[in-house]
Parts: sequence; C-alpha cells; structure tokens
Amino acid sequence: MADPMYRKRAEKILSHFREVSVIRIDHYKDVFNRHKQNYMKQHESQALVLAVKQGNLVYPGAEVCQSMGNEHFYYTSCMMNCLFDCEYCYLKGMYPSGNMVIFLNLEDIFAEVEALLREHPVYLCVSYDTDLMAVEALTGYVGEWIRFTNEHKDLIIEVRTKAGNIDFEKLLKCTEDNAGEKEKGFNRKNCVSERNIFAFTLSPDYVVEHYEHKTGTLESRLKSIGKALEMGFTVRLCFDPMIYCPDWRVEYGRMLEKVFSEIPMEKIHDVSVGSFRLSEEYLKSMRRNMPGSAVVQYPYENDHGVYHYSRRLTEEMERWLALQLTERIPEEKIFRWD
Ligand code: SF4
Repeated sequence: MADPMYRKRAEKILSHFREVSVIRIDHYKDVFNRHKQNYMKQHESQALVLAVKQGNLVYPGAEVCQSMGNEHFYYTSCMMNCLFDCEYCYLKGMYPSGNMVIFLNLEDIFAEVEALLREHPVYLCVSYDTDLMAVEALTGYVGEWIRFTNEHKDLIIEVRTKAGNIDFEKLLKCTEDNAGEKEKGFNRKNCVSERNIFAFTLSPDYVVEHYEHKTGTLESRLKSIGKALEMGFTVRLCFDPMIYCPDWRVEYGRMLEKVFSEIPMEKIHDVSVGSFRLSEEYLKSMRRNMPGSAVVQYPYENDHGVYHYSRRLTEEMERWLALQLTERIPEEKIFRWD
C-alpha cells in the first residue's frame, strides 16, 4: 500500500483498536473470495480487511433497488459486509466471506464519480453493500462523502442506515476538521444541503428484535431522524423491506403510531415502501447457511429468479402501508417498488 493517503487512512482506522495483529496479504480477494468459508461463523467475530479496490468502482443502480425518481442512478461500495447483522440481508447470500473489507482508495471512487458528472447529474447511493453509518466512528467515510458532495453541485448522495442515536453534531464537526486539511473556507452549513439524503430504514419492534440484530432500535432510529431534521439534513424514510410477521398489521400499525407521533412528517423529503425480495441465487445460499431462520426459510414465490411474497400478500402489505402513509404525506412523495 504505497500511497501515503491510503496508509494514513489505514493507520487512522487501526488506531481505534487497542490490540491489533496485522497480517499482510497480497490481495484482499486471496482471503475474501476463498471457497468453503463459513459466512455465519466469520460474521460472529469479523476480521477486518483493509484494501485498495480496483476495476469499476461506481455501478448503475440494480433493478431490485428503487431509483426514487432519479434518472442517473448509481451506487458504490466503499466497504464489503456490515457491522450490523440483519438475518435477511442479501450480503449473506452474495459474499463468500463474513469478514469486513474497508476500501481505502476513496479518491479513486471520487474520480470515477467526477467522470460521470462531466456527462450528467448523478444520484449515488454511497452506503451500499454495507451500512456506512455503523462504522462512521472508525472510517469517517460519511463525512468524506458529505464534503465531496458539497464540492459537486450536480451530485446527490443517499446514505442509507439502520443506525440509532447518530451524533450528527459530531459527524459535522469531524467533517469540518477533515475538510480543514483539504479545503480552505469549508463551511459546515453547506454540508447540510438537500443533496445529502439520510435514508433511515424503519421496521417494527418485532422485526428489529427478531431479524435486525445489532442495529439501532426503532426508538433510537427515530431519535436520529429527529436530530437530522433539526439540523437541516434531508431525510427519507424507507419502509423497505417490509417483513411479514404474525399480526403484521398490528406491528406495522404500532410502528407508524410512533413514527407519526415523533417525526414531523411535513419535513420528510420522501418515503419508500417495498416488501422483501431477493435473487434466487442469494436466497438459496442463505437457506443452506441458516436452516433455523424463519425469515430466510419462508416459502417465497419465485418470479423469474427473484423470490418475494405471494402477489396477494405483497399487494396487501404494501398497499396497506402506503395507504396509512397517505394520511400524513402527499402521495407523490411515496415511492412504491414496482
Ligand atoms: S444494515 Fe443493511 S447492509 Fe447491514 S446487515 Fe442490515 S440489511 Fe445488511
């Protein structure tokens, strides 16, 4: 890792650990892509791989993701795998390893985004294949993205998260401190622009407790949303994926009551609604690895290689939720996955 910038980043990340044993490897794929690894066991006690990513770094948005009405929709992954541990997470079917990889060459990703920006505006999901906020204290990457977005007027980023109790003051302070080294005259007020969208995935307590291990509680996510709005950030609410559970109407109804009582809905930028869906290939592998998981073993229907709830149940759950939301938020702000 010859580049001094990457070395500095690696040292900063490692400084957070009291005891580290560093093993040098040639290429992260030599470790991460090995056959016959035990994803679940590795995820229980994740090793951290610091690497430089090569090849394509920014990708056109996947079909199973919502573009939220944006024409030039892309995503990028500065990390692989997540500190959180949602049972239904597609990463469990996509990656051969449960260890976490952090890519240190953010500048290469930035350069690729700049190349796209020379052609057209870009809407970019930056917290993809991970939850960047979960490790913000370690990496500072969300702050780096906010700073970068601030410099590029045709860029909109989405930071999707299930983190609770986010300290937005600290996030901005760190962003400002980092920017100070690179950009003179950086103004923190510019950070809080509508081009930085914080998208919070919200689930009922039942789903959080049973399936979204290590994530923020519903209560703590709502606190984060309140704080983000208070500070002027743009906030999106994602009721996606909706997960079927016994008495789902009661569970989702209770969640909505909390949301409506704690969040000033008129300040919400938009809302997405979608139920669980996953590619056949990923679900097959997850079913092998998690024989006891109700959410993974549910008898989904397979439609051209994508597993989802039956048409009837999908329609029932999504329509019901969207209908409740229309009482508090204009219909044109509600995006439903089609
Ligand atoms: S927070 Fe997102 S990326 Fe992380 S485990 Fe859950 S679903 Fe996966």
